[in-house]
Amino acid sequence: MRDPVARERIAVVGAGIIGCLVARELAERRPGAVVTLLDRDIAGSGASRLSAGTHIPRGYSDRFRRMTAYSQDWYEKLAAADPSLPIHPVAMHVVTAADELPPVYIPGSRPTRVPGIGAHMPAIAESARVWSVQGGHYADVHGLSRSVARELRGRIAVREGVQVTAVEPAAAEVTLRLGTDDDLVADHVVLAPGPWLDAPAWRDLLAPVGARVKKVVALHVDEPVPADAGVVVFQDEDAFLMPLAGHWLFSYTCRQWDVDPDTVTRGLTARDVIEANDVLHRCVPGLPGRYSAGRVFCDAYSAHGEPVVTHVGDRIVFAGAASGFGYRLAPAIADEVAQVIPTATGR
Ligand SMILES: Cc1cc2nc3c(=O)[nH]c(=O)nc-3n(C[C@H](O)[C@H](O)[C@H](O)COP(=O)(O)OP(=O)(O)OC[C@H]3O[C@@H](n4cnc5c(N)ncnc54)[C@H](O)[C@@H]3O)c2cc1C
Repeated sequence: MRDPVARERIAVVGAGIIGCLVARELAERRPGAVVTLLDRDIAGSGASRLSAGTHIPRGYSDRFRRMTAYSQDWYEKLAAADPSLPIHPVAMHVVTAADELPPVYIPGSRPTRVPGIGAHMPAIAESARVWSVQGGHYADVHGLSRSVARELRGRIAVREGVQVTAVEPAAAEVTLRLGTDDDLVADHVVLAPGPWLDAPAWRDLLAPVGARVKKVVALHVDEPVPADAGVVVFQDEDAFLMPLAGHWLFSYTCRQWDVDPDTVTRGLTARDVIEANDVLHRCVPGLPGRYSAGRVFCDAYSAHGEPVVTHVGDRIVFAGAASGFGYRLAPAIADEVAQVIPTATGR
């Protein structure tokens, strides 16, 4: 039997932005616990590495808007406490053909109808209506994940390059089998595997969650970026254009499902180029070119389009399937995880 005064042991598997923020939240809220963050690669190397990292202050349900508002506030406080973090506030315009914006923008974003997005920005359709919204930002998600992991060292164990090969629950604890051959035993395990839903270690545990993996494609649009350029959100197409490192990034909704993160092509296909340019030119008819550069990866999506935080065993919580919003909602996901793991006293 375990010593009743022994410290609580929590393992977080996956050190993407979600796993990193979950581990940070648990370290803050449970100072007595022994927290271990594991990743088979280095922190921030999965979907987080290629993320556009855009925070748009909207959500498509009450929970989604609550999570968006919570996360926005959390990131703003984090950036204020450490201005060197790669979190950049940005001007944001929303474009739609409709007379009104749908009521999806969080109250603090104060959507305000404006005449246009500015003459120096890419030429959107003349008939488009434009709103400016407050509170948008973008981040280097890979850099932020690594900064969080670096800051956590010393408070928790960060084990990079360690693959979890099996998860074996028992009544009183969970054993993680590791590629390094040393087992890790924990009272609670958080699985935050990003798009690696189908890993043999947890495939059966995660099957009831019903999440799927979808390809994510963004075009790199090599057109001049004005110094004061902001993000343009195309509400009707669920797409956006953002300034990034001397070019524009165009993110749109790719509809290619059930890809494998270990084999998904690490480059654009001809189909990606055609689809992405079609959407881009509908959004921004004034752009002169056909663009064939960008980034390709994938993300885990839930059936309802919102992140999932749920027990998949008595002592095992799954956190993810953030449906293309894993950066934006990671702080709120971490908050939900901290709330659902019972404390030793049962609270
Ligand atoms: C091109 C692109 C653009 C995007 N743009 C945005 C955006 O603008 N805004 C937004 O909010 N979101 C965006 N997203 C989505 C967002 O990036 C993801 O939802 C988020 O990064 C997911 O984080 P995660 O921690 O769940 O997963 P990941 O970052 O994938 O982390 C999972 C980790 O688990 C590890 N792992 C897997 N298997 C094992 C194992 N067996 N043992 C140990 N470790 C393991 C992996 O190595 C990985 O590091 C974008 C995604 C892409 C691909």
